[in-house]
Amino acid sequence: MARRVEPRRRREPLAALALAGARLMVETDQAAIHGVICRELLRLGFPAAVLEAEHGPAGPRPPFHYAYTAFAPSVQRATERVLGRPLERLRLDPERSPLLRRVLAGGRLVHTGRALAAARELFGGASDHQARVLYRLLGLRHVVLTPLRWDQGVSGILVVAVARLRRSDPDAIDAFALQASIALEKARLFDQLRHQRAMLESEVDRRTRELTLAMRELQEADRRKDNFLANVSHELRTPLVTVLGYADLLLSEKLGEVSPRQRECLRTVASSARRLRSFIEELLEHSRHELTKEGLAHGPFPVADLLQQAARSLAPRLHERAVSLRWRVAPRTPQAWADRDRALQVLTNLLGNAERYCAEGGHIRVAAAPERGARVAIAVTDDGAGIAPEHLERIFDRLYQVGDAGQPRGPGSGLGLGLAIAKNIVEAHGGAIAVRSRPGHGTRFRFTLPSAEGRAPPA
Ligand code: ADP
Repeated sequence: MARRVEPRRRREPLAALALAGARLMVETDQAAIHGVICRELLRLGFPAAVLEAEHGPAGPRPPFHYAYTAFAPSVQRATERVLGRPLERLRLDPERSPLLRRVLAGGRLVHTGRALAAARELFGGASDHQARVLYRLLGLRHVVLTPLRWDQGVSGILVVAVARLRRSDPDAIDAFALQASIALEKARLFDQLRHQRAMLESEVDRRTRELTLAMRELQEADRRKDNFLANVSHELRTPLVTVLGYADLLLSEKLGEVSPRQRECLRTVASSARRLRSFIEELLEHSRHELTKEGLAHGPFPVADLLQQAARSLAPRLHERAVSLRWRVAPRTPQAWADRDRALQVLTNLLGNAERYCAEGGHIRVAAAPERGARVAIAVTDDGAGIAPEHLERIFDRLYQVGDAGQPRGPGSGLGLGLAIAKNIVEAHGGAIAVRSRPGHGTRFRFTLPSAEGRAPPA
């Protein structure tokens, strides 16, 4: 290897090694840095090897092993043939090597001209014969060992073979080893960071998988519950329709006269059955929407028609409670583009609530207007009891009712599904629904639907 020496560079080892040290700093991988250390030294005429300490939980500890050598492949093969095993399998124990012990004890560079003894130690206790062959093979003259520092200790040892040791060589090599130590430390930190990031990512992946699974199970349970609700509601409705039909038939006296007492009883039967039917219909509506979310039949219709129809269906209740309803459609409001029946359901639910939570003689206003982004907005405002701010966030949740725990239920109260259904329908159309309320002053619900503006007329 002494043959590889480049005499011109050899003249200025200090400056050249300082430059080589700078090249180390661009690397962030330990193995790559070992390679650069050895190759840079070899370029300057110093064959070299990096001995690395074993890595334990408390940091690097002896024994050492060969992490990298700058031997030519043929020299490496010959060395391993002489030793009878690959270099990387050698373990160098400072207990059996005074040279290594000196480096570790002093934490500083050590050099020796007794290259034959050094070969014996550095090849893991090679026999005299092996040491002599290797000494000749590698052309060893002087051997310089310098620690690669880590925190307060030593993470490795840089071994450099020098054919003719000049006064400035040890200092140059030591300074280079210091730069190499810094580069290795940096790489270790990068490694830790990479490792931590990988751990974090895999943890996030694991949690995401768990959550996805849990969510799927919940969705499945939810779907089964909706199915169950739909079936039960359906089964309940059929006999109820019969009860209601017969109650009305008896009341009409087509089957014979009924006494005033009987009439009173039949009226109670009929009104209870109607109330039950409206609950069941709400449940059915909810599960129908949940189960057929995708099946919206979009089409254009004038918003005024929708408002009129909703107002008409609510008229008897409004009349009964002397609640006034005014509605207005702003000029240039385009037609809506939505599933008309579902949109009517939204408006009916909001109007039903407005009436329900208004005092007798209260007022309800409905206003429709064009909205930016090819939409129409419909607002339902009442001057009823209003909703306390702490409930506003949750009133759109399924089955949520203001003050539901322990409060007596009024005769007109629903199931806590009306707003959830309305929100579902509006969002299925890509719209939004919002509420504003001042307790004691009233409430305003406002929702948007797509408008028919710019859409091709239906075929
Ligand atoms: P419910 O069937 O109980 O009316 P909703 O989902 O329609 O269920 O409404 C949820 C809750 O929001 C109601 O219990 C009621 O307390 C409140 N709420 C809804 N609309 C109004 C309104 N216009 N004024 C006051 N409170 C309202």
